[in-house]
Amino acid sequence: MIDFEIPEEAKAIRERVRKFVQEECVPAEEELQHRPYKDVLGDLRAKARAQGLWCPFIPPEWGGMGLGPLANALVQMELGESYLGALALNTQGPDDATMLTLLTHGTPFQKEKFLKPLLAGDKRICYSMTEKAAGADATGMQTRAIRDGDNWVLNGEKWFSSAASVADIAVVMAKTDPEAPRHQQFSTFIVELPNPGYQIQRNIKTMAGESKLGEIIGGGHAEVIIKDLVVPHENLLGGQGQGFNMGQHRLAYGRLRHGMHNVAMAQRALDMAAKRVTERSTFGKPLAERQGVQWMLADCASELYMARLMLLHIAYKAERGMDLRQENSIAKVFLAHMVHKVVDTALQLHGALGYSEDTPLARWYTQIRSQRLVDGPDEVHRWTVGRNVIKAYQQYGTTASAAGGDLI
Ligand SMILES: Cc1cc2nc3c(=O)[nH]c(=O)nc-3n(C[C@H](O)[C@H](O)[C@H](O)COP(=O)(O)OP(=O)(O)OC[C@H]3O[C@@H](n4cnc5c(N)ncnc54)[C@H](O)[C@@H]3O)c2cc1C
Repeated sequence: MIDFEIPEEAKAIRERVRKFVQEECVPAEEELQHRPYKDVLGDLRAKARAQGLWCPFIPPEWGGMGLGPLANALVQMELGESYLGALALNTQGPDDATMLTLLTHGTPFQKEKFLKPLLAGDKRICYSMTEKAAGADATGMQTRAIRDGDNWVLNGEKWFSSAASVADIAVVMAKTDPEAPRHQQFSTFIVELPNPGYQIQRNIKTMAGESKLGEIIGGGHAEVIIKDLVVPHENLLGGQGQGFNMGQHRLAYGRLRHGMHNVAMAQRALDMAAKRVTERSTFGKPLAERQGVQWMLADCASELYMARLMLLHIAYKAERGMDLRQENSIAKVFLAHMVHKVVDTALQLHGALGYSEDTPLARWYTQIRSQRLVDGPDEVHRWTVGRNVIKAYQQYGTTASAAGGDLI
């Protein structure tokens, strides 16, 4: 028998986080209209810490809650209901995945100097891998690092470094070994900001609705010139030539976290849609009584249901240390489309109100388009998934193992 019961402990923690998000974070969004962001977030964080809600997946010996993959997934799905949720618990991207990398690969010196202030919520970190020269195929990066005594000197460019303009630390990937095999040519460097060698040119304007507040909270997406950037050798993270491996490790968590927050956003959008169609009548009947509208809601509910099952199944595999790369790629693509469809439907059912800035739907709609690009675009994941389907067929005579078949 498959047991879908969520362990009591995980249920209890989800309940506490749900209450915190609904009673503290959602109302705090309103407060941001008339109080400085720093004060609002400071208060929220103090309340969260007082309740023992902090850095959910970080081990207790490092000051976190030490949640396993399942409990963390449940918690993240709650946090995503408010854009202050993850920030309040110091588990916002892109910081969270990089904290994991430092925890796993950092030297004692690096953990003391860089990880501790991140975990305390005193500092923020960004991740600079993508360049104009290379994104989906990150092995095309051109930024070069050359050893000079106890230092490395980096030259090149980066773009779409999220949160760089609010970060105190940047993790920068650069080519150290041009003659090595393609995936071993790159290393990762910890860079203290601000730094004359890491020059932020601008925050790139994007299709996502812009606001001063959004930039303060999210930090924008920076274009960066790297010019004679001097980095001490002791800041080389994870060993020379290991940058690519570590980057992938980091992205794997990031993909799932995006997915968990997508479920939360989609849930909130579907709730809004249900409320709207219940209250609004056209042509003499509430929208909620139209079968066409019910079908629209049904399709959203189906997608949300599949999304939840995927995430919980992946969490189950992660708890047991099982290989979850195929499911992770499938879910990454599915969840990005799911949230787009649900938010789009909610926007449609709100009519002109949905298109206005009087609800968050329009803003969400423009933000979530990026989900199909970040952490590997759709096509690259589908390419990998498709290759695994063929491999499975060749190995077992059936594609089941590449299509969730080990569930049955
Ligand atoms: C909002 C946002 C935030 C980001 N944050 C960060 C960050 O913090 N740090 C960071 O380093 N990067 C970040 N990125 C960059 C992101 O990781 C890249 O945009 C992504 O990897 C795609 O790279 P690219 O944009 O260069 O597209 P390209 O590599 O030029 O690819 C363009 C398109 O080609 C198609 N494609 C590519 N390869 C294949 C293939 N093999 N088969 C079929 N089709 C293919 C896909 O449709 C793809 O979208 C961010 C991007 C966005 C939009």
